[in-house]
Amino acid sequence: MSPDTRVRALALSLDADYYGVADLAPAREFIHAQGGDTVARYPRAVVMGMVLHDSIVDLLPGRDKAGAILYRHCTYDVVNLALDQIALKVANALRREGFDAFPIPASKRTDDEHICGVFSQKLAAHLAGLGWIGKSCLLVTPDHGPRVRWVTVLTDAPLEPTGSPMAPRCGDCTACVDVCPVSAFTGREFSEDEPREARFNAAACERYFKEMENQKGVAVCGMCLWVCPWGRKGKGASVVATRDKEKHE
Ligand code: SF4
Ligand code: SF4
Repeated sequence: MSPDTRVRALALSLDADYYGVADLAPAREFIHAQGGDTVARYPRAVVMGMVLHDSIVDLLPGRDKAGAILYRHCTYDVVNLALDQIALKVANALRREGFDAFPIPASKRTDDEHICGVFSQKLAAHLAGLGWIGKSCLLVTPDHGPRVRWVTVLTDAPLEPTGSPMAPRCGDCTACVDVCPVSAFTGREFSEDEPREARFNAAACERYFKEMENQKGVAVCGMCLWVCPWGRKGKGASVVATRDKEKHE
């Protein structure tokens, strides 16, 4: 069995729904600017995703206190912990095969000024060909929209990249831009030449969360994630998704 087959099989057996390998070379400069030598020295990333349950994501529009508490627990506590466990086990397996591996936590902010972690999971998933970066700055997959959380293991193992970056499929849709209560998105499509600030005011989103925390004791929004037609199912799904899917398939 090749290392690629072994690592993929391990990740899927540990309950990952998505698996990919990204060649990080095209984004080296960006990765170095965000995380420095510690992360930029790795040539590849194994990226794994877990699909969020619609029953949990669909608690978001109501955002009453009970729904907010349940969403936070299931998503931030349970799923992030499960992803961190998958990353640890994949990194352990790579280490035992003689490779260097660095598990990046599913959600751990290390930079308060730029409101980000040491490495972008979404960038890795994008480079691995698993989805595109939407106008919401979330990674949007064709099958589950942005309703997926990600974790990454950086490595020097000679794994084969699984794909190349997917072109944006947002089309004319502006649902995430329109739904945001603090107008945090500019509506610009992702471009690797532009900083995140050209598309997203992360500070406005964070202020909104802090206000909610102060007022209600629990902060949850996620409407940009909930509203995306690529993640919504059945009657509620926007025609945009259908139309654009037809256009791209
Ligand atoms: S989480 Fe809410 S406030 Fe933050 S960007 Fe998304 S829609 Fe806007
Ligand atoms: S809601 Fe629409 S514009 Fe926003 S990421 Fe999804 S498809 Fe793109």
